Amino acid sequence: MNLGIEGKTAIVSAASRGIGRAVAIELAKEGVNMAICARNEAELLKTAHEIESSCSVKVLPIVADLTKADDVKSLVKETVGRFGWVDILVTNAGGPPTGPSLSFNDQDWEDAMALTLLSAVRLCREVIPIMKGRGWGRIVNLVSMAAKQPIENMILSNSIRAAVIGLAKTLSIEVAADNITINSICPGWILTDRLVSIVKKRAESHNRSYESTLADVASSIPIKRCGTPEEVANLAIFLASEKASYITGTTIQVDGGLIKGLL
Ligand code: NAD
Repeated sequence: MNLGIEGKTAIVSAASRGIGRAVAIELAKEGVNMAICARNEAELLKTAHEIESSCSVKVLPIVADLTKADDVKSLVKETVGRFGWVDILVTNAGGPPTGPSLSFNDQDWEDAMALTLLSAVRLCREVIPIMKGRGWGRIVNLVSMAAKQPIENMILSNSIRAAVIGLAKTLSIEVAADNITINSICPGWILTDRLVSIVKKRAESHNRSYESTLADVASSIPIKRCGTPEEVANLAIFLASEKASYITGTTIQVDGGLIKGLL
């Protein structure tokens, strides 16, 4: 299927590894030029180089901490300086810490808000006026199944992801007439560095091996395995495409059937 986005420009935040990296790679295969960001320069440059050497697109790596307002502003400014505009925004960031619900203090909550909610708020605030000016835009938020079904030991994610869905739904209604769509993806258990560290922590706290804990996670999923970053990226690039022109305000899980709710 030709997704109709060749030559467009994207920002994929938090894209040096994991799901963000997979989305950047799949967009590049469609011929999309992009800026990608992360905090670790070496890892970011490696990813940018890998994408540029396998696809004929331009990738602008920008070191940015998504919890910092000035870094988000510079990310968008530098992208526009290089490419002229932004057509596609994929909001992604690292996940907040896990732990017992009552163990988090105010600072932990504020940090998690900055990472998970404010990063998306700030990116949308910078990018939407640019998309409005061009009369076309696609925003895809990478959120979590935690927005649909709380996960054990993840109160920060369970609480704040839902706010991102509220943000996306509200904005999607306001910008629909400008030909801008906004949708959110809720990954289930996807095999990335983050999942490895979550499973290790869970294994330690239950005095079990990493392997048996991971096997338990996989067997709790109706498809009986964890997902791959590419399986999430496949939906992300479709929602970012011309083909998804009548889909907006949705929240779709990519979870192997894990969410038990009907909607
Ligand atoms: P990951 O740890 O593999 O990758 C995270 C990326 O975010 C990296 O590129 C890292 O450099 C970047 N990053 C982290 N903090 C940043 C910051 N402050 N500023 C800039 N960049 C930052 O994680 P992942 O598994 O790819 O997860 C991506 C998102 O999806 C996270 O929000 C995660 O919570 C969520 N999620 C993941 C899973 C899963 O099973 N992997 C499930 C549900 C939701």
